[in-house]
Amino acid sequence: MPRELQIQVAPEVAAQKPLLISHVAKLMHIKPDEVRHLAILKRSIDARQRTVKVNLKVAVYYNEEFTEAPITLPNYKNVNNSQEVIIIGAGPAGLFAALQLIELGMKPIVLERGKDVQARRRDLKAINRDHIVNADSNYCYGEGGAGTYSDGKLYTRSKKRGDVDRILRLFVAFGASPDILVEAHPHIGTNKLPNIIKAMREKIIEYGGEVIFNTRVTDIIVKNNTVAGVVTQHNDTINANKIILATGHSARDIFELLDRKKIYIEAKPFALGVRAEHPQNLIDSIQYSCDVTTGRGNYLPPSPYSIVKQVAGRGMYSFCMCPGGVIAPCATSEGEVVTNGWSPSKRDQETANSGIVVELKLEDFKPFEKFGALAGMEFQKAIEQKAWHLAGKTQRVPAQRMVDFTQGKTSTDIPKTSYVPGTTSVELGQVFPNFITQTLREGFIQFGKSMRGYLTNDAILHAPESRTSSPVRIPRDRETLEHVQIKGLYPCGEGAGYAGGIISAAIDGEKCALKCVATNLQ
Ligand code: FAD
Repeated sequence: MPRELQIQVAPEVAAQKPLLISHVAKLMHIKPDEVRHLAILKRSIDARQRTVKVNLKVAVYYNEEFTEAPITLPNYKNVNNSQEVIIIGAGPAGLFAALQLIELGMKPIVLERGKDVQARRRDLKAINRDHIVNADSNYCYGEGGAGTYSDGKLYTRSKKRGDVDRILRLFVAFGASPDILVEAHPHIGTNKLPNIIKAMREKIIEYGGEVIFNTRVTDIIVKNNTVAGVVTQHNDTINANKIILATGHSARDIFELLDRKKIYIEAKPFALGVRAEHPQNLIDSIQYSCDVTTGRGNYLPPSPYSIVKQVAGRGMYSFCMCPGGVIAPCATSEGEVVTNGWSPSKRDQETANSGIVVELKLEDFKPFEKFGALAGMEFQKAIEQKAWHLAGKTQRVPAQRMVDFTQGKTSTDIPKTSYVPGTTSVELGQVFPNFITQTLREGFIQFGKSMRGYLTNDAILHAPESRTSSPVRIPRDRETLEHVQIKGLYPCGEGAGYAGGIISAAIDGEKCALKCVATNLQ
C-alpha cells in the first residue's frame, strides 16, 4: 500500500516534482531515490496567512511498483432498437441524461434548438462583433448548453461527493485533464470544453442515440395527463411517453408554453446584480498579500475570490467568479443585455471578473404579479431590457466605476474592459429597482472593508448579471421525479430549478435518466 500523507508546502515546492519528492522523503526518513512514484490526490491553496501555502494529500510509493489505473468509460449498450426517451436540451443535464440512458439500455433522442459547438462559434462572433443575437444560438443556447463557453468551474455546494466524483471521472474519460480529480476547485476552461462536449455527442450517436440540432421544441403533447410527444419548430411530431425537459434557465418560451398549457409551474427566487471586473494583479495582491507590481510569482495560479455579506437583511455575494477571464454577452433575444463570465484553461487574461448579486425574494416580484408564475421572469426581463435601452440599444452594456457607483456619480470615462461589444457610461442606479441599488452600494463598501483594495475606481461594474438561476420552478414529485401533474414528464436541471451549475445539472440529468429507466422496468 502506498503511504498517504497530508502536507503543507510552499508553492514552489508543490509545483516542482523533484523538490516535492525531496520534501516527502525527508518527512519519511528515506532517500529521494527510494520514492518510486508520488501521486497527488488532492490540492488546495491556503491563502489565509500572509505566506501562501499549498495543501497536498499525496500517496507515496516507496517499496512497491505503481501502476496507473486508466479512467475508462462505462460499458455503454447499443440502444439502436431500444425504447426511446426524448431529451429537450443538450446542456450538461441533457447530455449526461443521454449517456446514463445509454448505459442502462434506453435510447435518447436529444433535441437541441441551437447548433453544434463548432457552428455555434460564428454566432458568438456575431454577438461580440456585430451586436446580432441569434435567438437559438448564443452563449446560452447550442450544443453543451450554457456551460460550453464558460469558465468550466466544476465544483458545487452539493454534499453528494460520490456523484460529483462520478461526473468528474466521466469528464476525464471524455478528454478533460485528470487534474480536475485532484484540485479543490477544478475548472476546464472555454478552450477545452467544446472538444469534450463533441466527444460526448459522438459517443451518444455511436451507441445508437440521436442528437438533433437546429430543432426547437414548440409544444409538448399531453394526453390524459401523460406526455405523448413533442412538436418542433419544423412542425414535426416526435412521439414518446418519456420526456426529460432540460431546457435551462433562459428558455422563456418553454416557461410560457407550460404556463399557457396550464402545466403547473411556480415563481422562484433568484439573484441579480452586476458583473465586476478588476485587474487580476489587484485581486492577486489582495488574496495572496503580494505586491501589485511584482505580482504573484511563477508558482501560484491567478487568484479567485469568494465573498458573502448580509446587507440590510439580504444576501449579497460573488457568483461565478472567473480569474484571468473575460465578460461575455449572454443575451438570448434582441432587445436585452445580459452579462456572465468565462476564462480559458490557463486563466491567463489580465482581468478578473465576478457576478456580484443580491438575493431576491418572491415579494420583490409584486409589481409583476399579474404574470403569476412568470412574475420573476418578467422582473428579470424588464431589467435586461432597461439596460439595453440605457446603453444605446446594442449589445453594449451600461457600466460604471465601482466607487462612483457607491456615490451615485456617473463615471466621466469607462476604460476598455474585457466585454468585447463595449460599454456605455450609465449611472447604474437607473438600471435597477432602488432596493437592489442600495444593497449593492452598501455591500460594495462592506466588501472593501473585508478585502482591502477591492473597492476601487479601477474596478468596472457591468449591468446586469441576471441569469444566475431559474426564475421559475417546474415542480416534480420527490420520488418519481415526474412533473407533479404530468406523467412521463421529467423537469430536469437548472431550468426546472433543480440544479445550479454544470456539475449539479449533470447529476440531475443522470438522476432523471435513472428514474425513466426504473419506471420503464415496472
Ligand atoms: P443549459 O446548459 O442551459 O442547457 C439547456 C439547453 O436547452 C440549451 O442548450 C438550449 O439551447 C436548449 N433549449 C432551450 N430551449 C429549447 C427548446 N425549446 N428546444 C430545444 N432545445 C432547447 N456553471 C458552472 O458550473 N461553472 C462555470 O464556470 C459556469 N460558467 C458559466 C459561464 C457562462 C457564460 C454561462 C452562460 C453559464 C455558466 N455556468 C457555469 C452555468 C452553467 O452553464 C449552467 O448552470 C448549466 O449549463 C445548466 O445546465 P442545464 O443542462 O440545466 O441547462
